[in-house]
Amino acid sequence: MLQLPDSAHRLDPSLLDAIQPEHLRHLLTISILLNSTLDLKQLLDLVIDAATELTDSESASILLLEPVTGKLKFAAASGISLPADLVVPMAGSVAGWIVEHGQPLVLDDVQADERHYQGVDLITHFVTRSLLGVPLTTRGRVIGVLEAINKQGEITYTPQDIVTLRALATQAAVAIDNARLFQQSDLVAEIMHELQTPLMSLTNAMAALGRPELQPVEEAEILRLAHQELQRLTEMTREMLDFARLESGRAFFDRERVELVQLTTDVLAMLRPLADAHHVSLDLDLPVQPFFFIGDASRFKQLLLNLVSNGVKYNRPGGRVTIKLTQAAGQLILAVSDNGPGIPAEAQERLFERFYRLPDREGFTDGYGLGLAIVKRIVDEYGGQIQVDSQLDLGTTFRCLIPIRSE
Ligand code: ADP
Repeated sequence: MLQLPDSAHRLDPSLLDAIQPEHLRHLLTISILLNSTLDLKQLLDLVIDAATELTDSESASILLLEPVTGKLKFAAASGISLPADLVVPMAGSVAGWIVEHGQPLVLDDVQADERHYQGVDLITHFVTRSLLGVPLTTRGRVIGVLEAINKQGEITYTPQDIVTLRALATQAAVAIDNARLFQQSDLVAEIMHELQTPLMSLTNAMAALGRPELQPVEEAEILRLAHQELQRLTEMTREMLDFARLESGRAFFDRERVELVQLTTDVLAMLRPLADAHHVSLDLDLPVQPFFFIGDASRFKQLLLNLVSNGVKYNRPGGRVTIKLTQAAGQLILAVSDNGPGIPAEAQERLFERFYRLPDREGFTDGYGLGLAIVKRIVDEYGGQIQVDSQLDLGTTFRCLIPIRSE
């Protein structure tokens, strides 16, 4: 007889008996795949593909509960184009009902059910007709919901479908939980490693200060360096904390109507002293009309600050940074270009990894290798993309393409 991993045994064994043999085989293959990766995105994609196929549906989606904010957020969907930060209300949505009751739910006519949250259909232009939703439960907690949408051919989902999707959800919940825990533990280890260097410098400075033969000028210089290092450490920990929040999905993103022409002008004014210190000029190429975007103003500022300050820091005296804001095909396009030294092709692939810095530039400017990783997380949050175009000795352009939301 086919063996399912431990997690699947938490399902009532008589339920497993009810699963068709070919579905059981499919579930086993999936469970092996799920156990072989800790990449959350890859896991979620595997689960929704399997859910769509196993239940013969048009589409499937996963909503996950954010640990701190308690928000229920779309994490992945097949056949539907979703903005990455789409949240559904706990009270007043089918998924919210499933989380609250910890039970599967079958709806033959979703539109007629008062629990259905119309907001998703409005944003995605996808019509949900029938639905089977099951809770994702692990370690005694509901962490989200797996939904199969629009049963093909037949009108309704069968008891077979419910059992099969529950078996898939049991395995998926364990794998998702593990991937999230792994992301966190990995990050903690890397942060500890990064903190070693400044802490070591401070320890050395303290040891040097204790020496009796120290001259007052030397003492003053060591104190100045220690102070500088302490400031760097404070900034570094602040940035690490922010990154950890973004990485774990605990960061809060406001949804407000933001006017980007004014916001960009304000950010540029903030960066003017840095640009002057590096003898780099800042050029703006902005729309004449106000440009509205639904999102979080402070996160958009952070994105701009990181990209423009990099264009300044990694530039030569007399260099130039241009910030261009346009829109096309429902997307806002922000391009930050510089005429600095450029980035070698092999490094371009690694730029958005946390703590990555170009090897030959270490120590040349202040930085911790988190700026671009943060930019990428922000763009991801809005379901956008970031592109790099760079040529050695000519310069670099970072282009963010972000879908514009209508409400
Ligand atoms: P940080 O600037 O804190 O080191 P980032 O994540 O912002 O971290 O950038 C990672 C690395 O990419 C930088 O250390 C730098 O080597 C390189 N880089 C970023 N932007 C540019 C740019 N505009 N031109 C050249 N190199 C860049």
